[in-house]
Amino acid sequence: MALVPFDDRDGWIWQDGAFVPWREARIHVLTHGLHYASSVFEGERAYAGHVFRLREHTERLIQSGRILGFEIPWTADEIDEACRQTLARNGLTEGYVRPVAWRGTEQLSVAAPQSRIHLAVAAWPWPNLYGGDRMKGLRLTWARWKRPHPETAPTASKAAGLYMIGTLAKHEASAEGYDDALMLDWQGNISEGTGANVFLVIEGALHTPTPVNFLDGITRRTVMALARKRQIEVVERTIPPSDLARTSEVFLAGTAAEITPVREVGEHRFTPGVVTETLLRDYEALVRMPPEEVASRLAA
Ligand code: PMP
Repeated sequence: MALVPFDDRDGWIWQDGAFVPWREARIHVLTHGLHYASSVFEGERAYAGHVFRLREHTERLIQSGRILGFEIPWTADEIDEACRQTLARNGLTEGYVRPVAWRGTEQLSVAAPQSRIHLAVAAWPWPNLYGGDRMKGLRLTWARWKRPHPETAPTASKAAGLYMIGTLAKHEASAEGYDDALMLDWQGNISEGTGANVFLVIEGALHTPTPVNFLDGITRRTVMALARKRQIEVVERTIPPSDLARTSEVFLAGTAAEITPVREVGEHRFTPGVVTETLLRDYEALVRMPPEEVASRLAA
């Protein structure tokens, strides 16, 4: 399939408060966000006309900026509205929404406290990250790159800079014929995928690493709530890779990845089973409910 570059598409992008034609949504090459990774973003999905857990994404975006020391000059209500309008303006009821905030061009050195903070929102159709046959299960390899200690990087922020090792890990996995990589943390325990959190099923219970050095995903929290509703025990803990030897099912969970079964991690093999399938079905039903119903289901 021919790649359609992201700067050569039809549509509208919300940029700093106004819609601009897609091809005109540009920044200058001397932008701080580009040189020093002073950029934070979100990845959201709309289903049946609504962005799933929009307010949580917006709050995380604002918080990600604060962690990098900047304040996005829009309120949560305004950012929510920009996301909704971007979908509508592009005629989408299903798709991926990408808000991104960054430091501009006023200063170009490590310190840039006077830089203007910009915000843009784009949206485009994006079927599941791993494509139609994801039920077969992904083949993952171990990443050579380790997730950093939380005192080494602002790991609670969805900051562009943290994706450097994710891109490296994923490129290396693809070059070896794998679908993706699973990352360990700096201590050698299981951390997360390159763009999604990871869950293991061990003796019928759902185990997932404690989010000390990676993003506590919105999908992750949703999956944990869905599991508890099904009376599936949820265990958050430090998970050494050797635990995969007694794991029956593995899946990834993230906005773009949704819930995607894994059939292979390094030397370990798994078969997507009843826990993965149940949670996948529950998740697919939940994301299509109106936002008020999502909130009440998750709260109950
Ligand atoms: N970890 C990483 C590295 C990610 O990129 C994502 C996707 N944003 C996640 C976890 C899952 O987060 P969420 O469920 O909020 O999309």
